[in-house]
Amino acid sequence: MSLATSPAILLRSHPYSESSRILRFLTPDHGIVALVGRGVRKGGSRGRGALDTFGRGTLVFTHRPDRDLHNLRDFTPEGASLGLGRDLRRFYGASIVAEILLLHALEEGDRALFDWVAEVFGRLGTAPDADVPGWIVSGAWRTLALLGFPPELERCVQCGGTLGVGDGEEMDRFDVSEGGLRCVRCATGGASMPRVGPRAREQLAFLVAGRPPHPLTHPASHLGLVEGFALHHLGARREFRSFPVLMDLLTRTGAADQDRM
Ligand SMILES: [Zn+2]
Repeated sequence: MSLATSPAILLRSHPYSESSRILRFLTPDHGIVALVGRGVRKGGSRGRGALDTFGRGTLVFTHRPDRDLHNLRDFTPEGASLGLGRDLRRFYGASIVAEILLLHALEEGDRALFDWVAEVFGRLGTAPDADVPGWIVSGAWRTLALLGFPPELERCVQCGGTLGVGDGEEMDRFDVSEGGLRCVRCATGGASMPRVGPRAREQLAFLVAGRPPHPLTHPASHLGLVEGFALHHLGARREFRSFPVLMDLLTRTGAADQDRM
């Protein structure tokens, strides 16, 4: 056993026994670590043991080699609480990122991924309301891309031809199982696939890069696209919990969405 100290972001916490919880943290050097925390309270306001879901801080834990579960020693929150709990869209936007990460069971450190998750949680906490849908969809896309599942947006997944060289008005199709866009010539047989016009294709590229356009147009269509992609490529055995909730929230608060993006 050895004592380890690391920056960390709390992804999930659930009760383990009456006085302890299982906590899953994302760290830059150890990937995701699962810890038993004794005597910790969820959402406490201050002091030792106060834990804010999606909060960032400094983690001290006893690392037990060859074990899946380690022991929490201390977690010191950094900066102000993100306040994600005050807004359902912001909270579930962060939950999607956490669900994707936890499904992947990351065992190795990845500093770029850690920095991205810290950034997107911060943005979800502070962005103006109009920009929240863009950060939600970007959160999911960029996390998938950093985990090794970027969508193909440059070349047709069927013929390999360069996309977006036509008259600028052509409609591609999003082929979820092939992992990206089909050009207009390969669209035959893809009638059931979502259509993606030039503007949506450009928006997709920005979302994957972690730079959401503001505002993002047709956010519910974009959310449906990334949900289908995540389910297929992460081999999820069950539905994500956060996507349906968010879909409901985005269609209720946003303008009517259409099939075409
Ligand atoms: Zn093609």
